Amino acid sequence: METTRQLIAAVEKYLGTQLRQRKAAPADLEIPPGHYRIDQFPEYLRLRQNLDMIEHSSFGNPFFSVHEGVANNRTTINGKNIINYSSYNYVGMSGEPAVSQAAKEAIDLYGTSVSASRLVSGQRPVHVELEKALAQLLRTEDSITFGGGHATNETVIGHLMGPGDLILHDGLAHNSIVQGSILSGARRRAFAHNDWREADRLLTDYRHEYRRVLIAIEGVYSMDGDIPDLPRFIEVKKRHRALLMIDEAHSIGVLGARGRGIGEFFGVDPQDVDVWMGTLSKSLGSSGGYIAGCKALVDYLRYTAPGFVFAAGINPPVAAAALASIRLLEKQPERVARLRENSALFLSLCKERGMNTGTSKDSPVVPIILGNSIHTLMLSRALLARGVSVMPILHPAVEESAARLRFFITSLHTPEEIRYTVEAMAEELKKIDPKYLGKTASATMVEKIVM
Ligand code: PMP
Repeated sequence: METTRQLIAAVEKYLGTQLRQRKAAPADLEIPPGHYRIDQFPEYLRLRQNLDMIEHSSFGNPFFSVHEGVANNRTTINGKNIINYSSYNYVGMSGEPAVSQAAKEAIDLYGTSVSASRLVSGQRPVHVELEKALAQLLRTEDSITFGGGHATNETVIGHLMGPGDLILHDGLAHNSIVQGSILSGARRRAFAHNDWREADRLLTDYRHEYRRVLIAIEGVYSMDGDIPDLPRFIEVKKRHRALLMIDEAHSIGVLGARGRGIGEFFGVDPQDVDVWMGTLSKSLGSSGGYIAGCKALVDYLRYTAPGFVFAAGINPPVAAAALASIRLLEKQPERVARLRENSALFLSLCKERGMNTGTSKDSPVVPIILGNSIHTLMLSRALLARGVSVMPILHPAVEESAARLRFFITSLHTPEEIRYTVEAMAEELKKIDPKYLGKTASATMVEKIVM
């Protein structure tokens, strides 16, 4: 007893000294402005320098262009109606009259905000219907919706996983998966893009050192437009007793005969994926994110996920627009068929011309890789002048050798628009980099010979 008291006294004395020592800051200590003035933060100064460079270049700033109407296969910029490849309105739901009408009716019924968390008084019938429709679309037991797609990954990964766990994600995983992983406090490791063999090896070596392991992949990768081998990932996750999560931001409404996503594309049992995640902001003509899966997962998130419990429910027109989009998708699978035809046409025309489309296959995301940021910026400007909007992806967002234009195809593009675009791009490429088309054409030929 006495020794315990002495011990406590010693610890208190030690801590007291520590506190006193920490308080005694030198009188002349200068706190540098970069520590308390945002306009002096080194990271802000770096950004400012880059922006100044872009703004003073002859190309101007390509970011934050204002689109003045609905963005689907066409858009309006500076009053000019042009062909649009810079929006992921894959099956034309945003701007579709039935979807807009549903949103307007929801405002009349429920207002523009639910004014509370769903858990308390923010729930409306439209939320319940939407989550039922999502679960039906995905063939899962239940689903739950969140205010943002990015926030869904952050809060859900951050909440399901924790210290002592491991998250294995694809090397090209979206920022929201990475941020959620960091938030969780779990150990995070990336495996090479689409490399299920590397994921398997990592699990063979390290699975036993961790409690839970989450493998996080995407249905369609939004930079390259390629699709992971889902059956292989399922086999790996089962063998190692891991959890599998798929972000279907770019595959729901896109893959599979009826747009039910990568699960339908490969014909897998939906129960073999633990966490189906997706966004409402692309094929589903709205905004927000969802998680679909077993009842236990959804109930657990409904009562405990911070980004759900401590956030207002998604607002009525947003929920109603997504619900109307799902219903339309189910009634009109021809939208998905058109999207597939358009994507295949665009890809084959680009390949015929000798353009480098990387690993894009079976998806509406098609990069044209130039491997030179200045050329990429020049090509996007030249196409804009010819009535085509497509966004450049430049260094440092990607490696310089991967600088590209990224095309998002929609079901509403006409074959004429697609042919015009590829033709215009080939003509402009000849002016910007006369060797480009020859270069990739011969590379493709070499590949064919080797194979
Ligand atoms: N996941 C992926 C793969 C994405 O591409 C995105 C955004 N484009 C998100 C999540 C975030 O979705 P949202 O934009 O709806 O917040």
